[in-house]
Amino acid sequence: MAVMTMSKISECQVSDCSYNNDNNCHALAITVGDEKCPGCDTFTQSGKKGGNPGALGGVGACKVENCKYNNSLECSAGSIQVGLGTHGCHAECRTFSARQ
Ligand code: SF4
Ligand code: SF4
Repeated sequence: MAVMTMSKISECQVSDCSYNNDNNCHALAITVGDEKCPGCDTFTQSGKKGGNPGALGGVGACKVENCKYNNSLECSAGSIQVGLGTHGCHAECRTFSARQ
């Protein structure tokens, strides 16, 4: 089995998330989506900022099996961008691309 490395979150535009600072995600590892929506499951609003300010977030797991970058329920894109949702979820993976 090939060695997998964690895809990084190169940018997140969801500034109202507790893990967001300066358009970067500081959660160590996020979980993405379901079959309906490639949303960021880790999005939260707690009233204060969280995560590790010195670390850039990555994709710990992704449940969007119909994305072409999904490999055994992990993300193989290398890096992803997250933004406001267009599929009905508040924060979503913009790198999502449907499998042909
Ligand atoms: S990727 Fe998810 S957890 Fe990270 S800042 Fe954006 S919405 Fe929040
Ligand atoms: S690019 Fe695809 S596999 Fe990677 S996190 Fe986004 S939806 Fe999941």
